[in-house]
Amino acid sequence: MGSPISKETFLERAQARFADHYDYSQIIYKSYKTPIHIRCTLHPVKVIAITPEKHLQTTGGCKYCLRASRIRMLERELQRDALIHPSLLEAASSPRQAEDPLVREFSLSEAKGP
Ligand SMILES: [Zn+2]
Repeated sequence: MGSPISKETFLERAQARFADHYDYSQIIYKSYKTPIHIRCTLHPVKVIAITPEKHLQTTGGCKYCLRASRIRMLERELQRDALIHPSLLEAASSPRQAEDPLVREFSLSEAKGP
């Protein structure tokens, strides 16, 4: 185990990671593993209870942001694939499965002959 992390160190790391994404003005910092209460500045309706440790290891604890970031990632993947070439999407997803049966069929029918 490393040295205990002070409130100052935690805030420093949190700001480096999240900038001003989360509001730390209400926290009562006891230890790295004692839950604190923070707010997401984008979704301040809900107070987030999370340990400083978890806060730094995850997307911060805001489930709305977590969901949004997952959706963004999915959308980015879809857009990237679609941008390359829409028709490549199907072929790229399963190139072998798409080709193998055809190849087998061809070689079979050629071996049997008409
Ligand atoms: Zn949020």
